[in-house]
Amino acid sequence: MKIRKVTILGSTGSIGINALRVIENLKEEIRVIGLSCNKNIDLLINQIKTFNPLYVSIADEEAYHTFKNKITNHDIELFKGRNGLLEISSISDNDLIINGLVGSSGMEPTLCAIKKGINVALANKESLVMAGSLIEEAMNKSGAKIFPVDSEHSAIWQCLSGEVLSDVKRLILTGSGGPFRTRALDTFANISVSEALAHPNWEMGRKISIDSATMMNKGFELIEAFWLFKLDAKKIDIIIHPQSIIHSMVEFIDSSIKAQIGVPDMKVPIQYALTYPRHVWAPWESLNFSKINKLTFEDPDYNRFPCLLLAKKSLKRLGSSPTALNLSNDYAVERFLKGEIPFHKIHKINKESMDRHNWLKEPKLNDIKELDIWIKNYVYSF
Ligand code: MG
Repeated sequence: MKIRKVTILGSTGSIGINALRVIENLKEEIRVIGLSCNKNIDLLINQIKTFNPLYVSIADEEAYHTFKNKITNHDIELFKGRNGLLEISSISDNDLIINGLVGSSGMEPTLCAIKKGINVALANKESLVMAGSLIEEAMNKSGAKIFPVDSEHSAIWQCLSGEVLSDVKRLILTGSGGPFRTRALDTFANISVSEALAHPNWEMGRKISIDSATMMNKGFELIEAFWLFKLDAKKIDIIIHPQSIIHSMVEFIDSSIKAQIGVPDMKVPIQYALTYPRHVWAPWESLNFSKINKLTFEDPDYNRFPCLLLAKKSLKRLGSSPTALNLSNDYAVERFLKGEIPFHKIHKINKESMDRHNWLKEPKLNDIKELDIWIKNYVYSF
C-alpha cells in the first residue's frame, strides 16, 4: 500500500492531539510530513521528535523565534505567521490535510488546500459555514474532496455509504444539548466561563465548548451538513439526545433509519476520515451496551438556545448571512471567554451582526475579509 503524506493544522489542539494518536496506530500507511501550531512550542517539539515532519508552521511570531532558537533539526522547513499557515496548507506533496484549527482562522487554509487539489479531513466546520459556496466551487474545479471529522457528519457519511442520495428522506443530527439543557432559564445571565466550558460528554477545545453551550455549534453543524451532503435544508433535522451515543442518523424514503453509534470519542471519526472507505482495527474503548441505561430524545428548545434559530435563518438567506453569523460568533465567544460580556449576550450580538451587516449574494474571499474587519469592530462595540 502506498504511504499517504499528511499535514496537521492545529497539531497541538484537541483535534490535532487526537489525530496524532490515531496516526500512531496507522504508522504503516500514514506519514506526517507537516505540523502547524499557534504557540504551544513545548508540545510541538515533542510531536516533532515522534513524527519527524519535513514542514513546520508556527502562527505566533514570538513563539516562532523561541522555536527557532531551540531547534536542532535543520532539515525542517519552517513557516511563520498567517502566511506560513497558508503556505503549509498548499504544499502539493500532501495527500491529505487534517484541519483542526479553531474558528474562522481555519477557513482560508481549507480553501488553499482544496484549490491545490489536496483532500481535507475537516474538523474546522467554520470553513464550510463561512465559505461553503467558495469551497464548493474550488472542489468542483480541482476535484479535491472534504472528509468530515465532525462526529455527526462522520456518522451521516457512514450511514450514507452504499446508499443513493435521492433515497434519503432526511438527515437527523443529534446533539447532547450541552451543559445548560436543564438549567433554569432565569439564571442564564449568571453563567460563568468555567460552567460553560464543562461539556457533559465530549472533551473539546474552549471555543467549541462555548459553542456547544449556546448550541451555536449545532446550528453550524446544520449549515455544515447542508454543504457536505447537498440536501435541501428542510431535510435536515436536529434532535436532542443527551447521552451522545447515537452520533447522527439518516432516514430513507421507506422510513428505514440508519444510525451510527459508539462511545463519544473523537478518535473514531478522525480515524474514519483517514482510512475511508475502510474501518481498520483500533484500540479505542468499545461501547458496553449493558452499561447504557437508556437513550433519550427530545426536541431542541429554541427559546433556550436561540442561536439555533439564527443558523436556520442564515441558511434561508444564504449569501453572506452564515459568514456574518460565523464571524460574529468567533468574536462574541472570544469576548465571553475574556469575561467581557455575559453568556446570553452572545446570541444578541450574533443576531445583530447577521441582521445589520451589508448582505452580499455571492461573497468572494476579499468580501469575507472585509466583512471580518467590519464584524470585529461591530462585536467589540457592544
Ligand atoms: Mg460535532
